[in-house]
Amino acid sequence: MIRPTVAAVRLDALQHNARAVRRMLGTTATSPQIIAVVKANAYGHGAAQAGLAFESAGCDWLACADIAEGVALRRAGVSIPILIFGALSVSDLDGIFDHQLTPTVSTPAAARALEAAAAERQVAVDCHLKIDTGMNRLGFRHDNLGRTMPAVLASPHLRFTTVYSHCATADEPESHFLDEQRAAFDRACAHLGAMGLRKIRRHFANSASMLRDSRTWYDAVRPGLALYGIVPPPLQAADLELRPALSLVSRIVAVKGVRAGESSGYGRRWRAHEAGTIAIVPAGYADGLDTRLANRGVALVRERRVPIVGSVCMDMITVDVTGLDVSPGDEVVIIGQQGNEEITAREMAAAIGAIPWEVVCRLGSRIERQYEGA
Ligand SMILES: *Cc1c(COP(=O)(O)O)cnc(C)c1O
Repeated sequence: MIRPTVAAVRLDALQHNARAVRRMLGTTATSPQIIAVVKANAYGHGAAQAGLAFESAGCDWLACADIAEGVALRRAGVSIPILIFGALSVSDLDGIFDHQLTPTVSTPAAARALEAAAAERQVAVDCHLKIDTGMNRLGFRHDNLGRTMPAVLASPHLRFTTVYSHCATADEPESHFLDEQRAAFDRACAHLGAMGLRKIRRHFANSASMLRDSRTWYDAVRPGLALYGIVPPPLQAADLELRPALSLVSRIVAVKGVRAGESSGYGRRWRAHEAGTIAIVPAGYADGLDTRLANRGVALVRERRVPIVGSVCMDMITVDVTGLDVSPGDEVVIIGQQGNEEITAREMAAAIGAIPWEVVCRLGSRIERQYEGA
């Protein structure tokens, strides 16, 4: 270890979470499959390691954002199917064919591009068809399939094995939109059946939808956040014991006294009310720490919660350790447990008005990931 700030990733926690989800879904041959979402470097956890951990824990598929992510997973040795979520309309499609990736067809342009690429290679390619049931992002509008689908379904080299949709409000328990989207999805699937797509598999649920409503499980679920041990706020997962896999840990590199009235950091955004002690921690916004943690976030030092004071700098934060006996080298936990105290990604996100997905995805490439529990 050269730099003092590291992200420790527990592969056994990832596997534990995948198995917990598996038990919840059921373990029979007809139970829903798990499509483990490992986009964005597996939410900052490391795509290769997390992908292989999920594969060995029995997940059926991986999913990622684009072809480059899929190719990296194959190069890391992933052998289960890999679904690409992104729109492929303007991509170089070679990776789909060279690395056996499963594309999503979510626009007419993507269907044309894939059909042309498959025809040129004289191969048929298995695809997932994405239906937009109200997210209004990617996917064919659920209420316009009679117009859009005939040309797409007539593509001789595209085999549509699966249809899916994505929900907009699964993490808003008071919203009925999830039910509306599910109903639109059911209607769209029936319509596709009437247009000749038979025995097609279906998937719909992200983590929040999976936790909230088993009617959204269909033939497979697509959890991301939950597999990393984080429950999408404000939901609770009472029946599912999930373990956060990632902790962000650093060490104090300097300790100094401040007098009453003195400030610390850029903009003098924090002032000592009385004489005290501050400690410098070598992790900043270049490592993915949000600048809104200034005077809002906390860290753990000597098993106590200590406030992050003053501005978050590029490479450093400052914590107020007044009254604690600290020295350079002492461990600082920014996300994770120390003694009986814990700061979760969810707590950090709540403190700054962000979402936990953002907190973990943003962890910078400068932070070494250390894998444990393999
Ligand atoms: C990211 C993503 C997921 C996983 O979402 P979580 O909220 O992290 O569970 C599922 N489906 C699609 C299409 C996604 O883009």
